[in-house]
Amino acid sequence: MSIRIGILGYGNLGRGIECAIKQNTDMELAAVFTRRDPSGVTIQTEGVPVCSVSEAKDWKDKIDVMILCGGSATDLPEQTPEYARMFNVIDSFDTHARIPEHYANVDAAAKEGNKIGIISVGWDPGMFSLNRLYANAILPDGKDYTFWGKGVSQGHSDAIRRVEGVKDAKQYTIPVDTALEAVRNGENPELTTRQKHTRECFVVLEEGADAAKVEEEIKTMPNYFSDYDTTVHFISEEELKRDHSGIPHGGFVLRSGKTGWNGENSHLIEYSLKLDSNPEFTSSVLVAYARAAYRLSQEGQSGCRTVFDIAPAYLSAKSGEELRRTML
Ligand code: NDP
Repeated sequence: MSIRIGILGYGNLGRGIECAIKQNTDMELAAVFTRRDPSGVTIQTEGVPVCSVSEAKDWKDKIDVMILCGGSATDLPEQTPEYARMFNVIDSFDTHARIPEHYANVDAAAKEGNKIGIISVGWDPGMFSLNRLYANAILPDGKDYTFWGKGVSQGHSDAIRRVEGVKDAKQYTIPVDTALEAVRNGENPELTTRQKHTRECFVVLEEGADAAKVEEEIKTMPNYFSDYDTTVHFISEEELKRDHSGIPHGGFVLRSGKTGWNGENSHLIEYSLKLDSNPEFTSSVLVAYARAAYRLSQEGQSGCRTVFDIAPAYLSAKSGEELRRTML
């Protein structure tokens, strides 16, 4: 029997999950749930219902894993504990500083419901976190580096859109090549925020807006841009749509370390991602972890987990025997 998946929240990740399920033959989409009027939400998969979130409780026995696709800022802190009482759940909660608090809330709820909740799944947090952990465990005497990009930062794009005179905008975070090379050369550089990333902004102005004033306001915006070298390009609405409508992202996790009695030998571990679509990739990771949640639940386990707690074989549709034969 295939694993019955529910999608809760149908935005970028929700759509990505739907695509990912199509590529995983041991899974099927059971239903999509939304807080909006379901009649206004059209999905791709034929024959699968779109329901209101208020009906979710009626699906307790018809869904093996509910993948929560709400936003990290306000949706997931409430939704994940709420639904972990009823379903095995997966989320992509990415507010790093609040993960311990979120973990505690989901753990209590999932134990209450005798369910599994795997939180903060994706690439950062997610695959990047795993690679940081592996690299640290293997090279205790070393230094970590994470670079992001080139990619669209939704948060920074939103911040620009809030500047007076801006009609629309897209912001790319770009790693600085020379900094990346210095790390790869084993120089162990101490890098400031400004030395690691630059920010490039493509901005469509409102009619009659003062370009110089908008540029100044973006470049000096605290927390978002003032600590970075920022370039601002003014473009037309058509150009923004034509050249900047994708959601690419990616980045690099590196650790350089030393071994040997006197630390005479250097090593570099590098993991990199180059993603055409951040949400579709993130969704693919979520779906693999949904398989793990299903299996843990079948074993009778409950409570909250992160990517750190899940053994890799649980992610794969292949059997242990097949994995040992083909991938070890
Ligand atoms: P979206 O803004 O596309 O969707 C979030 C929610 O908004 C949806 O679930 C949907 O819920 C609601 N929504 C309301 N109106 C609309 C509408 N008109 N169209 C689409 N959705 C609507 O966010 P993303 O899917 O891009 O990202 C979700 C979260 O994933 C982010 O907040 C981010 O924190 C996290 N993330 C984590 C990553 C990681 O590596 N860990 C990587 C990428 C993202 P409803 O259907 O109920 O209205």
